[in-house]
Amino acid sequence: MMRAGEAAQRRIPDMRITDMRVQVVRLPVRAVHSHGIGDMGGSTASVILRLDTDAGITGWGEAAPWVVFTGSAEANAAALDVYLRPLLLGADPFRIEALLARAERAVVHCTEAKAAMEMALFDIVGKALGAPVCTLLGGCFRDEIPLSFSVADPDFSSDLDLVAELCRQGVRLFKVKTGFAGHPADLHRLTTLRAQLPDDAELRVDYNQGMEAHDAIRRLRDVETVRPTFIEQPVPRHQLAALAAITAALDTPIMADESVFSPAEALHVAANRIADLISVKIMKSGGMLRAREVAAIAGAAGLACYGGSMFETGIASTAGAHLIAATPNISLGCEFYQPSYYLTDDLLAAPFPVRDGKVQVPTGPGLGIEVDEDKLARYAV
Ligand SMILES: [Mg+2]
Repeated sequence: MMRAGEAAQRRIPDMRITDMRVQVVRLPVRAVHSHGIGDMGGSTASVILRLDTDAGITGWGEAAPWVVFTGSAEANAAALDVYLRPLLLGADPFRIEALLARAERAVVHCTEAKAAMEMALFDIVGKALGAPVCTLLGGCFRDEIPLSFSVADPDFSSDLDLVAELCRQGVRLFKVKTGFAGHPADLHRLTTLRAQLPDDAELRVDYNQGMEAHDAIRRLRDVETVRPTFIEQPVPRHQLAALAAITAALDTPIMADESVFSPAEALHVAANRIADLISVKIMKSGGMLRAREVAAIAGAAGLACYGGSMFETGIASTAGAHLIAATPNISLGCEFYQPSYYLTDDLLAAPFPVRDGKVQVPTGPGLGIEVDEDKLARYAV
């Protein structure tokens, strides 16, 4: 039996958000990465959110948009600074669902901004309760998550060297970005890489919408000869009938990424078997709670999920790790390679935890991270 005094101490603290700061940062990347929808190179923009409370607890969040995929840093910074600020200041950070509902009515789209907001709220709540975010989401189903690296450098020989090094470090999941240099070039890269990879490594393929639907099935049958674990988003996101035809025709599982942002889109894809798998990203769904709805809908239909990401720093990648830790059917690993292997620097005080090719789920309260504010200032734009 708890004494009355102890029970009172364990009540949810009365806490208010007293300040918020929104900072756009630009982090240099190590190489160009090409995709079916466009190139990433030079630097990538994120919007970093800091929420402060009258309890002295600070929460951190990140919106990591990509302008050809989800949205722009400018739009998401404005969403936070102009449209979400009034509902956050003075609010009780424990009322996460209520704040998400208000955010939905305050500004349409800008799922990355809503993800940043939710992430910072969960960070505060976890710190206040002394619990990691994955515990708040139902507890850890897994303590580490196999890491996938994306092979996307147009300088393929440079990527082959990096893949060999990552194999030595224990990475066993490799996703080749295709659909930007033509079918023969895709087949050349895939067969070369398959020959180099150890037997226990998985090869995956992601077109990022880069394939024309009319000849997709015949070309993907060529791709199947390298025994990919899955083929991701071959055709443009709204060509769902073409995606369904590919899914029905091929033995290899087909993953929807750009075709599924929201739980409603997940429901349509799952109910109509438009894909076999779904890539879940907190930047697409607008946070961890909506991402879990996507995963739950997929799970009910027998679809497995993959932990996708945008070009995220260690802040958003850590939120993604908590989500995957607590969600059994996000079972295909994660692609949180950016903080360790793609950005030239990160915003975390300690390195994003990867060991033997697996992301280690943080165990500290909240997100379990410390943000390096000197770096935040250094990369501010
Ligand atoms: Mg993808």
